[in-house]
Amino acid sequence: MSAALEIHNATKSYGAHRVLDGIDLTVEPGQTTAILGPSGSGKSTLLRVINQLERLDAGYVQVGGELIGVRIRGNRFKQLSDREALKQRAKIGFVFQSFNLFPHLTILDNVIEGPLAHKRATKQEAREQGERLLARVGLLDKAQSYPRQLSGGQQQRAAIARALALEPELIVFDEPTSALDPELVGEVLGVVRDLAKSGTTLVIVTHEIGFAREVADRVVFLDAGRIVEQGSAADVLDNPRHQRTKDFLSKVL
Ligand code: ADP
Ligand code: MG
Repeated sequence: MSAALEIHNATKSYGAHRVLDGIDLTVEPGQTTAILGPSGSGKSTLLRVINQLERLDAGYVQVGGELIGVRIRGNRFKQLSDREALKQRAKIGFVFQSFNLFPHLTILDNVIEGPLAHKRATKQEAREQGERLLARVGLLDKAQSYPRQLSGGQQQRAAIARALALEPELIVFDEPTSALDPELVGEVLGVVRDLAKSGTTLVIVTHEIGFAREVADRVVFLDAGRIVEQGSAADVLDNPRHQRTKDFLSKVL
């Protein structure tokens, strides 16, 4: 079986600043991978590259065995066209720090917008699936509310339901709880924990070390665009080998 996600030599610069410096990362189907690292280490850029919101300068990304970052012709790399990139992006759910719901749509319409835009379902099918997903994240009673009427934790749970609606092969989360008041963090992590247990493949950038220890099959520590250390949560979080990992953990724990 092919990896759910395979990143090879991902390299990306902004001007002279090399933000991703040869990242190699493999995620097996059903695994949860937590990415940790200091601010500015390239975590969000890596997720945007996975999701085709940024193009690599070199290297490639494969989702479900299919090349998405670039395509190879002969032995040359070639970027995907915008249309190809859009099609591939639908394989990946993306949950941002800032919820990013459409303010003018109800919660249910936010969830079904993707399947309808991709012509995956009729309106009736999409509504039924959307209601199932809202029930799964505990928000069925908010289906007809608008984002501004929900708490941050509820909005983020709605954003997770929206990501699930396209039945992605992989869901990536970029600090899904860092914009939340502390008392709302738990309800969002609870939904992510349920997804991890259900066998969905997840990649999560998070500063919630306790959560990473509990849920992640693998922990990756990124610094200055490179993977400094990766392994099981017990290895990386409880027995870090590299000084930079130790320094980082001593600051966030
Ligand atoms: P992290 O998510 O780990 O905090 P980012 O991936 O957001 O890090 O950013 C990594 C580095 O790349 C930072 O120094 C940031 O300032 C820089 N960067 C990110 N996006 C851009 C951009 N669009 N243009 C220029 N520099 C950027
Ligand atoms: Mg970031």
